[in-house]
Amino acid sequence: MKITKKQIKIYLPLFVTFALLLIVPLFFISCGKKEINLTSYNMELKYDDEKHLLNGSERVKYYNNSENAFKTLYFHLYPNAFREGAKNPVISQTHEKEGYPNGMSYGNIEIDSVKIEEEIPFTIEGEDENILAINLKEELFPSESVDLQIEFSVCLPNMNHRFGYGDSTINLGNFYPIVCVYDENVGFSQSLYHSNGDPFYSEVANYNVSIEFDSKFQIASTGDLISSENGENTIKNQYKERNVRDFCIVLSQKFSHVQGKVDDVVVNYYGYANDDNLDECLKTSIDAIKTFNDMIGKYPYNQISVVKSNFVYGGMEFPNLVLISDKIEEQSEYNYVIIHEIAHQWWYGVVGDDQYNHAWIDEGLAEYSTLLFFEKNESYNEKYPQLISAATKSYKLFEDVYKKINGQVDGRMDRAICDFDTEPEYTQCTYTKSVIMFDSVRELLGKNKFEKTMKKMYKDYKFKIITRAQLTANFEKFGTGAEKVIDSYLEGKVIIM
Ligand SMILES: [Zn+2]
Repeated sequence: MKITKKQIKIYLPLFVTFALLLIVPLFFISCGKKEINLTSYNMELKYDDEKHLLNGSERVKYYNNSENAFKTLYFHLYPNAFREGAKNPVISQTHEKEGYPNGMSYGNIEIDSVKIEEEIPFTIEGEDENILAINLKEELFPSESVDLQIEFSVCLPNMNHRFGYGDSTINLGNFYPIVCVYDENVGFSQSLYHSNGDPFYSEVANYNVSIEFDSKFQIASTGDLISSENGENTIKNQYKERNVRDFCIVLSQKFSHVQGKVDDVVVNYYGYANDDNLDECLKTSIDAIKTFNDMIGKYPYNQISVVKSNFVYGGMEFPNLVLISDKIEEQSEYNYVIIHEIAHQWWYGVVGDDQYNHAWIDEGLAEYSTLLFFEKNESYNEKYPQLISAATKSYKLFEDVYKKINGQVDGRMDRAICDFDTEPEYTQCTYTKSVIMFDSVRELLGKNKFEKTMKKMYKDYKFKIITRAQLTANFEKFGTGAEKVIDSYLEGKVIIM
């Protein structure tokens, strides 16, 4: 309905009545429109290199942005997945040797105390001691906030993972208690750690983090460096970042650091001393930021660090920081991983998703954006049509092998990471098939509309969570039948030829 000037004259008396009956309440509704306040984490950390222990003090201001009231607040305790006797291995059997080069090793997190003004009781629960449950003194109503102080200590395993210390780097990923995402329909997401994919799901928050560490180390971290103090054999750095889903820190004695700038973003590459590819890795990182800025939308932070690390898989994304495995020998493969992990800054970092239950969203978009990077940057000598045909061949081979072994293939993409039976099934359905799917969608929409859709999704879901329905609805906007195509891929109904 559209109201013209003439209609306003005729309906003026009615209009005034409506103003009282309708507009006044509307005014209150609009005044009452919920403002989203972000959770903030203020952490003080101290790393003891001899004991591989991280002592932490975390002040969390949590806002209830939901429509419901609740009395218990839940936090993930990811390091407990690394403890002896944990239910799920943190690494698949095929990667166990590379993951634990010095034999099995364990880590964990201990919660020393929780305070809301004064010390309050807490419990460690969940399926596998993976959840910290804090009984708030009173119900937390919508738009209210609570201030908590959590003291914790973290023991790192000796392993080449996102959380652990290896020969070259100490990777502090997913090390602190982080609030579980609350959903009005399902409550707090409390998923258990799994070796498949990235078993994490979080909302954006604001961070202030200080870490004290031995001055023999160099550091790469999420966030802008605010201050750095030298103590006796120690360094204490303070970082700050807004609107990030997580916070990661890497320490190393081997780092060799180069820096560049593109579109006002400072790009750091941390390789190892004596590496002869520092400049090339920095250039790849800069090219990726530039390409995705133009293709999807502007990277909204001041800096990014691309960090070589003892990490068992190819790479891992965190906000402002990505890990690239030092096990990768070929430069072209190393570049590929840099580009994929940087693409995650857009898909996972800025536009978030439930990575546990719908991993194809961020992995699929990051992997497909990587292929689009190569299409736009010919000097990398990776041809888009060849990459698509390689993905198709790879998926068909997977299908053939699985049909021979199991008699059938489960090609459903939209499953929780714990519902994939094997690592190849997870990677083929989540990465390879996603690439084929997005290529089919682009065939339908054409290049321009496809990129327009990516730009729109980035703008509309910036710092939010995108769901399957929202993603498909975005691609369906042009009425080309994209939704049907996506659904049939996700449900495993498409025959890949
Ligand atoms: Zn990825």
